Amino acid sequence: MSGSNKFTIVQMNDSHAYFDLHQEMFWQGARAVYRLAGGYARIAAIVKQIRAESQGRVLFCDCGDTIHGTYPALNTQGRDLIPILNSLGLDAMTAHWEFAYGPRVFQQRATELEYPMLANNVYEKETSKPVFQAYVVKEIGGLRIGLVGIASNIVDKTMPPSYSEGISFTLGKDELPPIIDVLRTQEKVDFVVLVSHLGFPQEMKLLSEVHGIDICLSGHTHNRLYKPVLNGKTIVIQSGCHGSFLGRLDLEVVGGQIVDYRHRLIEVEAATQPDPTVDELIRQALAPYKNDLAEVVGETVTALNRGTTLEATMDNFLLKTLLENTGAQLAFSNGWRYGAPIVPGQITLNDLYNIIPMNPPVSTVELTGEEIRAMLEENLERTFSCDPYEQMGGYVKRCLGLNVYFKIENPPGRRIQKLFAGIEEVRPGRSYTAAFVTPQGVPQKYGRIRENRPERIIDAMRKYLSVHRPLHAELRRTFVAV
Ligand SMILES: [Zn+2]
Repeated sequence: MSGSNKFTIVQMNDSHAYFDLHQEMFWQGARAVYRLAGGYARIAAIVKQIRAESQGRVLFCDCGDTIHGTYPALNTQGRDLIPILNSLGLDAMTAHWEFAYGPRVFQQRATELEYPMLANNVYEKETSKPVFQAYVVKEIGGLRIGLVGIASNIVDKTMPPSYSEGISFTLGKDELPPIIDVLRTQEKVDFVVLVSHLGFPQEMKLLSEVHGIDICLSGHTHNRLYKPVLNGKTIVIQSGCHGSFLGRLDLEVVGGQIVDYRHRLIEVEAATQPDPTVDELIRQALAPYKNDLAEVVGETVTALNRGTTLEATMDNFLLKTLLENTGAQLAFSNGWRYGAPIVPGQITLNDLYNIIPMNPPVSTVELTGEEIRAMLEENLERTFSCDPYEQMGGYVKRCLGLNVYFKIENPPGRRIQKLFAGIEEVRPGRSYTAAFVTPQGVPQKYGRIRENRPERIIDAMRKYLSVHRPLHAELRRTFVAV
C-alpha cells in the first residue's frame, strides 16, 4: 500500500438493548446530572452522516452486550433486535451478555445477523472447536483491514452456568499471535483491529503482551474515553454504554502507516434527528409492550443510578426491597454496570425491568460471618485485583445491612479492616439470614438453606413502591475505602 489514504472506524459498545431514547448520567462538578440520549435510530442517523462525510470508507463495529438488557430484548431472547441491528450496516461484532440466552440460542441469533460474530476465545467443550470465526477481512478504499474478535472471558467463570453450557472460554491472548500472523502474511492486511469485550484494564495488559494490533476497540467496562489511549503504537478507544455514545476514529494512512488520527466520543443526543427507517423498526418492536411498560408503579425522590463503584442508589432500592420482602438481616445483589438511570419523579414498569431485566425470583440463604467475609474479599479481589486478568466483576457487590471498611490497595483476601452488621461486628461463627437475587448475588458455593421464594423481584419492587411513596434510596456508606 502506498500513497495517502483515509478511513474511519465507528465504535458502538455495551448498548445493552436500549432501543430508544433513555436517561443517561453525566458528572457535573460534585453531582450527577441527567439527560436523554441514545437509541438505535439516532445511532443510525449519525453513522449515515459519518459515511457521507467519509465517502463510505467506514468500518462500523459493535463490541457486544447488545441484545440483552431491556424487557423487549429478553422477552424475545434478543430476536427483536436483529432487524434493527441488520439495518445499521455493522461490519462485525463480539459478545458477552449475548450468552445469557444460552449458547444455542445465541448461535441462532448470530446466524440471523448479516455480519460476522467474531470470537477467538470460545470453544465447544466436547470437540474443542471454535464456536465463532476469529476474524474477518474488510476491504475499504484499497486498504485491507483484519478485524479480530475477543468475547468476554468471564461467562464461564462468574456468571450462571446456563450461559456457558457446553462451551468454554479463554482469555484469547495465546490465540492472537498466530491469527495476526495469518492476517499479515496470508491475508495481506494493512491493519489489524481488535474488537474486544475483555474490559479496558484487561485489554491494556493484553496489548502490552501481544504486538501487531493497530487499533483496539475496547468494551465491557463502560469507559467514556474522551481521548484515545495509546498502548505502544496501538490506539485504544471505548465509548460509554447504553448506546448513549459512539466512538469515531478518523485515520490517515501514508505508505501503509497510520500517520495521523482524530477521535471524537460522540454523544447520541436527543436532538439528533432519528433515521426514519430504523425508527419505524423500533416502533414495531416496542409496540406490543408499550402500554404495559409505561404503567406508573411509583415515585422517587432519589435519582436512581448505577454510576458508582462502591455503592449505588439504584441497587439500594433493589436491596431495600429484598430486606422488606423477606425480613432478612442482609441483602446482596451483583454489581451490574448496565441499567439506565431513573430521574426523580415517576417510576414506570419499564424502569423496573431496566434495573433487573432477568426478573429472577427473590432468594434467601443462611450465611456464616466467615462466609460473608470470604465472599466479600473474593468480590473485592475480582473488582480491584492488581492483575487486570483477575478482574472479573462489574462494580463492587451490592449489599445492605452491612458496613465494610476496606483498603483497596491491599493484597487478595486482606482488604477488609472492619465489617459490621448493623452496629455489631460480624462474628465468624454466627449465622446471618440474607436475601439475594441471582447466583451472582450470592454464589452457589456459599451458605445453607438456599431457597427461591415464589415471588419475583419485579413484583416485589412494585409492592415496595406502593408502600414507600415516594421512594428514598440514598447512599448509605456501605463500603468505605479507608
Ligand atoms: Zn460486558
